[in-house]
Amino acid sequence: MVRPQVVVVGGGWAGCAAALAARKAGLDVILVERTNMLLGSGLVGGIFKNNGRLTALEELRCMGGGNIIKVMEDSARHTNLSFPGHVHASLYDVEVIEASVRDLILKEGIQLLLESRVVDAHTVGRRVVGVVLASGETIEGDAYVDATGTAGPPGSCLRYGAGCVMCIFRCPTFGPRVSLAAKARVEEKTCEQALGMSGSCELNKHTVASWLSHRLDTNGCVLIPVPKYLVHGEMLGRKACQQYALPEYADNLVLLDTGQVKLMTPYFPLDELRRLPGMERVTYCDPYGGGRGNSVRFGLVTPRDDALRVAGLDNLFCAGEKAGLAVGHTEALVTGTLAGHNAARFALDLSPLVLPRDLAVGDFIAWVRGQIEMGEIGTRYTFSGGPYFARMKESGLYTTHLGQVEDRVAGVGLTNVFAKPLL
Ligand SMILES: Cc1cc2nc3c(=O)[nH]c(=O)nc-3n(C[C@H](O)[C@H](O)[C@H](O)COP(=O)(O)OP(=O)(O)OC[C@H]3O[C@@H](n4cnc5c(N)ncnc54)[C@H](O)[C@@H]3O)c2cc1C
Repeated sequence: MVRPQVVVVGGGWAGCAAALAARKAGLDVILVERTNMLLGSGLVGGIFKNNGRLTALEELRCMGGGNIIKVMEDSARHTNLSFPGHVHASLYDVEVIEASVRDLILKEGIQLLLESRVVDAHTVGRRVVGVVLASGETIEGDAYVDATGTAGPPGSCLRYGAGCVMCIFRCPTFGPRVSLAAKARVEEKTCEQALGMSGSCELNKHTVASWLSHRLDTNGCVLIPVPKYLVHGEMLGRKACQQYALPEYADNLVLLDTGQVKLMTPYFPLDELRRLPGMERVTYCDPYGGGRGNSVRFGLVTPRDDALRVAGLDNLFCAGEKAGLAVGHTEALVTGTLAGHNAARFALDLSPLVLPRDLAVGDFIAWVRGQIEMGEIGTRYTFSGGPYFARMKESGLYTTHLGQVEDRVAGVGLTNVFAKPLL
């Protein structure tokens, strides 16, 4: 018997998690990525387990999605850090993690197509029947996941950002993002209100003063006060990651050690930065932004249900930033895992899984959809701050007690659900 096949488009955190979940379910999986590396914007991120993301990741682990979390943990440079507005954070090393994720993907037997950009989709009725690569080749599957993210294309960066500054998405080299859902003729909502740059930019660690590099190695986080005349308060409003849009992030340089130095502001003019202590000879990690801002994202929203099925199509699921205005690696992992699992369920003629709202992950997926349907599209949602973390705390969904998370997942009968083969 030929095994059904799931095709995942986009190899960021969401696409990797989706591919792993569909593979764990027992299906053949092809993961298609436009660039020469996995992880998308995860190549410049690094913060995880901060605030409610800890609860969400532990829920995912209890549901059987722990293999990818372990890669993050094994690549961590620092654990249990606090910085303004955030507690119990870990930082993975952005310089080393991609190779480890790639090892996991290949070890699990997923077929990985790098430098393969999907440029079109074939549909018949309510089904996607194939995706077309820029090379002209068509890849056919039984179910599909759109994990293409929301970054760029460069036209958006020119129009809404500081111009295309060759960020980690490297569109000029590999071609811009193409939305699979849009190519399958799904009407996505354009969403100018939500557009924003990332909340951070990256500095070359060996170019900061040695005392500062040493403090970063030891503490993971260093705050350097910014004199009033250099404070860029306007940057707070431009952040896609609103959990870092606090005054402390304008009044200080908040620096995190992710292998690079993660400067928690969308950008800071280089000449001004060099006036600050420890920064006299600093350079930005080009091509990640060059100090002029990067990665304009969230310009569109794909309609979907709580099983992450894209509206109007039976066999297309979405994950990560494509699943709504969700920002973060953790958010990408949890939605990716569910989307990949549900794609596998569809291919096997099983009804999709909807996570109950007794779980933070289930509540997040349903609540964000509701917010978007009510027109709340000027916000980006995350477990780590803003309105959703407030909701987690009020509703009791936020917990750091791992036993409580285990009981919660067991209570809804979902222990290891993502680790069991469906075949
Ligand atoms: C500079 C920066 C720093 C960040 N820091 C953090 C952080 O510290 N912690 C945190 O939790 N979050 C952070 N974020 C946010 C987080 O990285 C993202 O929200 C999350 O990783 C998105 O994952 P994704 O898989 O949905 O999308 P993406 O990471 O955008 O991945 C989408 C992938 O799809 C590929 N793709 C697109 N179109 C096609 C196509 N047509 N064919 C094939 N492939 C295609 C892209 O190349 C890309 O690899 C940061 C974001 C940025 C930009």
